[in-house]
This record gives sequence, C-alpha cells and structure tokens, in this order.
Amino acid sequence: MQDLNDILKKDELLSKHCSYRVGGPAKYFATPRNEYELLAVEEFILKNNLKYLLLGGGTNILFDDRGFNGCVLSLKHLNRYIFIDGETVVAGAGILLDDLVKYTLENNLSGMEDLSGIPGTVGGSVFMNAGAFQCEIKDIVKNIKLMENGKIFTIENSEAGFGYRQSRLHGKKILEVSIQLKKGGINSLIRREEILFKRWDKQPLEYPSCGSVFKRPSGGYAGKLIEDSGLKGFSIGGAKISEKHANFIVNFNNATGRDIRELINHIKKTVMEKFGVLLEEEVKIIDF
Ligand SMILES: Cc1cc2nc3c(=O)[nH]c(=O)nc-3n(C[C@H](O)[C@H](O)[C@H](O)COP(=O)(O)OP(=O)(O)OC[C@H]3O[C@@H](n4cnc5c(N)ncnc54)[C@H](O)[C@@H]3O)c2cc1C
Repeated sequence: MQDLNDILKKDELLSKHCSYRVGGPAKYFATPRNEYELLAVEEFILKNNLKYLLLGGGTNILFDDRGFNGCVLSLKHLNRYIFIDGETVVAGAGILLDDLVKYTLENNLSGMEDLSGIPGTVGGSVFMNAGAFQCEIKDIVKNIKLMENGKIFTIENSEAGFGYRQSRLHGKKILEVSIQLKKGGINSLIRREEILFKRWDKQPLEYPSCGSVFKRPSGGYAGKLIEDSGLKGFSIGGAKISEKHANFIVNFNNATGRDIRELINHIKKTVMEKFGVLLEEEVKIIDF
C-alpha cells in the first residue's frame, strides 16, 4: 500500500478548509493528488472502518464545532489539469471553477462565462450543479469520470441526475469532467467582467459565507422572503443575516458553527410563520 504520510493528517482544523471559517478538527484529513493516492485513502478508510466526507473547496459546507469523527477527503488537490481539444475541455476535479472559466476564455472558448466568480472546485460544482445567471454546470457537461468502491468509470450527462443545485452522485468521487464549449468572442470576456462586478455589488464578499444559504423556493426568492420577514441584519453570536443580501449568512465576528445553525433554524421558523413557506438549505450541514 502507498505510504500515506504525505497526504494524511490527524486532527486537522476544518475551519481552515471552508469558506465559513468554522469547524473543529477532523480525526483524519486526507488530500490525495491523483487516483492512486485516492485508492490508498479509500483502503485506509475501509480498513479502519471510518465514516468519510468528500470535500472540494468547502464553499458550500457548514462544519460542526466539534469537527468530524471520521476521515475528510479533501479533493481540491486531485487531478489538477485542464486539456483542451477543439471545443471540448477536460478538467480535473481539483481545478477551481473560476480558474477554469478564465482559462477557457483565454483560449477563446465561450459558454461558461456566466459561472464566473463561483468559488470552489470543478468537482464540487458538478456535485452541486452550481449555476448563476443563465448557466448551470449541467448545461455544458458532456461526461463525468467517477470512482466508486475502487472502480473508475465514466457516465454521460443524462446519467448524473442533475436538478436544481443537486445531482445524484452521492457516494461517488468525481475525478474529472469533460465539457462542451463554443469558439467564442470578445463578448464573453465583457460578460465575465459584468458578472464579476454584479457579484461584488450585490453580495457581501468581504465576509466569510457559503453564498446562498437556502435554495430558491417555488414561485419566489429566499432572500426576498427573509427580507420581508424583517430579518436583514439579525444576528446570533458572530453570525448575521447580511444587510446586503438576505440569503447570505455572514461570519462577521468569530461565529461558531452553532451560531450559524441557530440562525438557519430561526430563519426557517420565521419564514414559515409569516409566509407558510418551508425553506430548504442549499448549504450542506455536516454533523460530527
Ligand atoms: C461567496 C459565495 C458565492 C457563491 N455563489 C454561488 C453561485 O452563484 N451559484 C452556486 O451554485 N453556488 C454558489 N456558491 C456555493 C458554492 O460555491 C458552490 O456550491 C460550489 O460549486 C461548491 O464547490 P466546492 O468545491 O466548494 O464544494 P464543497 O462545498 O466542498 O462541497 C459541496 C458538496 O459537493 C461534494 N463534493 C465536492 N467535491 C466533490 C467531488 N470531487 N466528488 C464528489 N463530491 C464532491 C461534497 O461532498 C459536498 O456535498 C457560492 C459560495 C460562496 C461562498
């Protein structure tokens, strides 16, 4: 078995690995860089009968203050490559999504510029079917290379079970994705600049957050319901509902995971009481 010393740590603080900046230590924290190392970590997990969690950039995750009593598999160093073949682009799971957008535009390819500025990795974006403005990742994915129980295989877009901010890839490790773009022009670069400006204008990017906390409920916007409930600026401990964008909870003053969880529950209760709408979390809440 491959030596794991290089890629396996004990008691690694999860607050260093998520955009909320909260979370206690993981019993084990592994950062495999390729499929061989990933297989070795899988073997270690199996042998020690550990529960595990797949982590990309940690930009849509809320960890527990006690940490994680198993092995966190950070895939942000996995398969950090991009290949371009005509209008097809192959990107490894660990590439940052925004770096991929930039790279495709630099290579005169368009089709994913609307995803500009979404933080996190390519792997995480596929699992979440990340999207913004007129594009979701599912609109450009051709196929996805996966690992499950030590086996590597490729599926087509139609087999991924993509829906609004979700896929049906639970339990599978996303290794690589191939996407279909088009030869593009200057307009895509201008579009990227506009989108990045809108993000800075509308979102509280100066604070740690996970982006939108709740999914869009049918027939409305979570942010509008939260705002109309009079909750903008409401805080619990160091966590606050952003004044700039009510669907963002920001860690404005050393929040704990518990502060954020309590605020999420408070929002759900208030919006249910006022409007009878059950908000569903987009953020993945991870228990100890
Ligand atoms: C400021 C800000 C703005 C945001 N704006 C947007 C937006 O406009 N649109 C949008 O859709 N999202 C947005 N998000 C949320 C987040 O960036 C996306 O959901 C992103 O795609 C998550 O990627 P990640 O690599 O950080 O995944 P993580 O948060 O690490 O993980 C998310 C989920 O994906 C799984 N996962 C991660 N990598 C893999 C892999 N390789 N294989 C299998 N499963 C994996 C994890 O187990 C977890 O369930 C925003 C977040 C922030 C902080």
